[in-house]
Amino acid sequence: MDMTRIRDRMVEHLVTHRGIRDPGVIRAMGKVPREKFVDPGFEEYAYEDAPLSIGDGQTISQPFIVALMIEKADLDADDKVLEVGTGSGYASALISHIARYVYSIERHERLALQARERFEKLGYGNIDVRVGDGSKGWAEAAPFDAIIVSAGAPEVPGALKEQLGPGGRLIIPVGCSDAQRLKRITRTAAATFEEEDLGGVVFVPLIGEDAWTAAHPMYT
Ligand code: SAM
Repeated sequence: MDMTRIRDRMVEHLVTHRGIRDPGVIRAMGKVPREKFVDPGFEEYAYEDAPLSIGDGQTISQPFIVALMIEKADLDADDKVLEVGTGSGYASALISHIARYVYSIERHERLALQARERFEKLGYGNIDVRVGDGSKGWAEAAPFDAIIVSAGAPEVPGALKEQLGPGGRLIIPVGCSDAQRLKRITRTAAATFEEEDLGGVVFVPLIGEDAWTAAHPMYT
């Protein structure tokens, strides 16, 4: 299977049919081998515009949604970015092509270790992965120019807003457990927060101290 050609077709679909415009995002989508971030046996589905299971009840997100979230984070080459919900590592790999450094936090140890191994194997030297509760952010590495949360929260965790630098953007799905609104929260220079609604999305739950609790039906 010629993965490069299939990947190019996916990128063309994202641009032509889904309206992705950011040149940095388009370039990164054309570079990151998504087939290396899916579970063995799923490689042939890697370039379908759909989420896929990665075990532990979790998913690698749909390419369009990942592209949209990164586009809306408005990243610069000098940015320091936090991703909450490393999962397969795919979104962090994309971000690492655009931004200076990526901090990526995942609550499932197996997924975090697997993503770390993938980054080492594929030569990504600007991503740090940690096992932990990303609803509290990553205080030691803050402030961030952007934070992308790849799981749905009941409300915007306060720590994530606090860990944005001036002008920082937080992209986060917020709502009930089976459907959310994608929000962009921007910290202004005066330390106030502006909120925009980017549309409806469906994500697995953000589970943690400042998110859904262990009582959530999808808790694993
Ligand atoms: N960005 C990932 C990718 O590219 O594969 C997909 C993320 S998946 C939709 C959501 C991830 O968020 C899951 O791996 C889940 O374990 C993780 N997660 C949920 N709650 C979390 C929390 N409080 N802290 C860190 N990770 C969390």
